[in-house]
Amino acid sequence: MRRTLLQLRVDPIACDGFGYCAELLPERIGRDEWGFPLLAPGVLPPGLLDAARRCVVSCPRNAIVLVPADEPLSGPTTRAR
Ligand code: SF4
Repeated sequence: MRRTLLQLRVDPIACDGFGYCAELLPERIGRDEWGFPLLAPGVLPPGLLDAARRCVVSCPRNAIVLVPADEPLSGPTTRAR
């Protein structure tokens, strides 16, 4: 069975920029000068998937999600697990 490759995506409208996600997943999420998350591009390595899931469920604004890596940037977002 083939695993779906996943990446993180942030809804910049919903995000409040407090940065919990960057604290939980510093390997993939930095912060800009206002505190908003800056995501590393590309597919999440398998070793970071659990940490990425914790990051998603810890977001107080539901602003960060895991999506299939081949999902286009425009259009509806599919939440992956
Ligand atoms: S935890 Fe959520 S609301 Fe806070 S900075 Fe990250 S994405 Fe934005």
